[in-house]
Amino acid sequence: MGYWNNGVHTTRLKPLIHYPTIPSFQYSVFATMMLSPSTKIDLKDFSPAELREFVASYGKEKYRTLQLLKWLYQKGASSFEEMTNLPKKLREEWKQFCSISTLTPIRLQSAGDGTKKFLFQLEDGNRIESVLIPERDRITLCVSTQVGCGLGCQFCLTGKKGFTRNLRPSEIVNQILAAKKSLEEDQPITNIVLMGMGEPLANYENTLRAIELMTHSDAFKFSSRRVTLSTVGLLPELERLSMGRVPFRLAVSLNATDDETRSRLMPINRQYPLKKLLDLCRRFPLRPRERITFEYVLLRGINDSIQDAKRMVKLLTGIPSKINLIPLNEAPGIPYRRPSDAQVREFQEILMTGGLTAIVRSSKGRDISAACGQLQAEG
Ligand code: SAH
Ligand code: SF4
Repeated sequence: MGYWNNGVHTTRLKPLIHYPTIPSFQYSVFATMMLSPSTKIDLKDFSPAELREFVASYGKEKYRTLQLLKWLYQKGASSFEEMTNLPKKLREEWKQFCSISTLTPIRLQSAGDGTKKFLFQLEDGNRIESVLIPERDRITLCVSTQVGCGLGCQFCLTGKKGFTRNLRPSEIVNQILAAKKSLEEDQPITNIVLMGMGEPLANYENTLRAIELMTHSDAFKFSSRRVTLSTVGLLPELERLSMGRVPFRLAVSLNATDDETRSRLMPINRQYPLKKLLDLCRRFPLRPRERITFEYVLLRGINDSIQDAKRMVKLLTGIPSKINLIPLNEAPGIPYRRPSDAQVREFQEILMTGGLTAIVRSSKGRDISAACGQLQAEG
């Protein structure tokens, strides 16, 4: 699946006249695009490096790229008119070929605990959700990477909805810009988690491009320690990542301690079973003191036994890890129940006695269906 093949811009497009002189462009997004007034490119679909190439193709200096990045991601500009420190002639020219997309929530719900859920309508009418979670020492935004999800985990409402399409980089980062608008100047978003709708590694190119924008020092400026990507463990993509510098913290949805149960709950386990996944986790490149987060949704009578907890200790010992226990967020149509609080505590204690770090995550925003696995963008 190509970068641009997301159901919206699927036609193969010729390069714009400016570009073929730049050799690296044959591998970049421009190589498959023709910029024309009828098919404008969204500036927020460019990675910072591509934006630099784009600006250079107009013979412009590097600092113009920095100005553009600042306008788009720090000042949240939504039009070329606002970019007053860029030459007017240049802006007029870019306006012919480029657009600047934005997202505006069509519904914003607030939960009793301060969590806010945004419903966005995309250009093609599809809908996605993001969740803003204010806590004492941080404000976390949970963003979506796909419309729906094709992996069909049995406990997840997004999975029930099925897959519609991948989000473009612009659609991923616009969730941040839109959420920022709902906050005061002195309330910065401090953390991003890619744990909303979709499997981020199934939309690899676009997600990584968006993460590049999140962590770039002239764009959003998030430290890579404050961006967390959660995956079911798509092995080819994790292998690919493990070969370079990983610009985010990794979270892996474990959810079971034996292949039979995991395959039943998460069909992807048939393709990428536990042993292979954990072998890769064991050699995944981590920075000093960094750990992989393992998420474990607790389902009553399914994966919450003492044996499960003991097996988890065996599976994870030796991997720098911390475990997030998430008692199931129940929902109509999901055929499972959450365990009792006492059972959750007992499970946690076995993990801790076994030498693991385990915390119970109290899911925020349950009263507005904004908690893990409850996003389905209906309404
Ligand atoms: N697709 C990715 C990221 C989005 S799901 C993934 O699966 O990792 C984010 C987290 O929500 C995952 O850890 C998933 O296991 C968890 N989750 C899904 N449905 C849930 C539910 N009903 N209750 C609690 N957590 C759930
Ligand atoms: Fe998709 Fe994650 Fe939900 Fe599984 S848990 S269906 S991978 S969003």
